[in-house]
Amino acid sequence: MAQDQIKALIGMNDILPGQTQIWRYLEEQVKATLDGFGYQEIRMPIVEETRLFKRSIGEVTDIVEKEMYTFERSERSLTLRPEGTASCVRACEEHQLIANNQRQRLWYMGPMFRYERPQKGRYRQFHQIGVETFGMATPDIDAELIIMTHQLWQRLNIRDKVTLQLNTLGSNEARAKYKAALVEFLSGVKDQLDEDSQRRLDTNPLRILDSKNQQTQALLNEAPDFYDYLDDESKEHFETLRALLDAVGVEYEINPRLVRGLDYYSKTVFEWVTTELGAQGTVCAGGRYDGLVEQLGGKPTPAVGFAMGIERLILMLEALNVIPDEVTNYLDVYQVSMGNVTTPAMQLATQLREAIPSLRLQMHLGGGNFKKQMKKANESGARFALILGEDEVAAGKASIKDLRESGEQITLEQGQIATWLAEQLY
Ligand code: ATP
Ligand code: MG
Repeated sequence: MAQDQIKALIGMNDILPGQTQIWRYLEEQVKATLDGFGYQEIRMPIVEETRLFKRSIGEVTDIVEKEMYTFERSERSLTLRPEGTASCVRACEEHQLIANNQRQRLWYMGPMFRYERPQKGRYRQFHQIGVETFGMATPDIDAELIIMTHQLWQRLNIRDKVTLQLNTLGSNEARAKYKAALVEFLSGVKDQLDEDSQRRLDTNPLRILDSKNQQTQALLNEAPDFYDYLDDESKEHFETLRALLDAVGVEYEINPRLVRGLDYYSKTVFEWVTTELGAQGTVCAGGRYDGLVEQLGGKPTPAVGFAMGIERLILMLEALNVIPDEVTNYLDVYQVSMGNVTTPAMQLATQLREAIPSLRLQMHLGGGNFKKQMKKANESGARFALILGEDEVAAGKASIKDLRESGEQITLEQGQIATWLAEQLY
């Protein structure tokens, strides 16, 4: 191989055949779940003006400080989207989907870009399915989002392997008061904090609660309790949400340290976490962001949403061995031929595909003796081999061999094959 062979960038992955089947399976399960709740898809561009993300995500966050892919074009600073919420709000504003406080339930799917240290479950181009809702201030919608994800875990057979962590961040005022108390407390023990947390003490002190450093976490046990600062409205919102989840049997753990990385959250925050993936255990994360639309220049608009990481979910499905066998199977029929029958073989394939639009039929093309063709048929995973030889063509017939169970071979009139196949397959 040439020495200067060009490779994909570190942290940006090709998704190969075999894998793509699993992606499609996951996407289909997600779409079916979202359809079941009446959510509508929105597609946004991957590149936006840099200031959109600076203004929404916040200047002193990991994403804006060090993770964005930013470049200049036509004297403008542009950025590959690191997440979808900002773009979704921008699109909704621009097209007046929320300008008059309309209620919206939206979802999107696609690649996100963050310049992080690549490792298992953490990449530089990764994919999210995001859900955003607008115009609903009551905790019933927070509950719906959580119930919806819970149903998705059920569909994917991973319900027992994920835990819901729940917290409330209160109102902006409550958070501001708590922030002051936290800073006062932490300033007293500043020299015992990890380096990142020391820096955050001035810039984004609430993020310290989220620190992965054990010594910092130990110190935080003595910190003021956020729930003592919580405003009544947020308290009630949280309690109603909890009661709704209890009522439908969704279990959760209250985690007072859960603050989320982005600036724009208020009230409800939640994460679905698993122990199956090591350090990258959060598969879905979200919360309420009632202030964001206004922060981006719109009218005050209640909003709540979440995003899940597709790669992490797929790693989990693989680790738990819960992907149904038929997912990786991509063929019903593998068509082989003997002798000079390319034209009638192609005519038959065309006729069958037209008769059964969902049929997955692949023709053996490019030559090869019969034995080789049958070997391919067996390797293909198809349920049937459709065999066409010169004798069969002359008689208007074709043979079908069951490649899975019986191994049995029958010969049928060509005109009967579509009906026979449809009966066997569906
Ligand atoms: P983390 O704490 O793991 O860095 P985050 O708080 O930055 O996550 P969000 O911005 O909330 O993550 O994104 C939602 C979800 O997207 C995460 O829970 C995770 O499943 C997935 N995700 C985030 N960053 C990455 C990444 N670099 N690679 C793969 N998946 C990711
Ligand atoms: Mg992150």
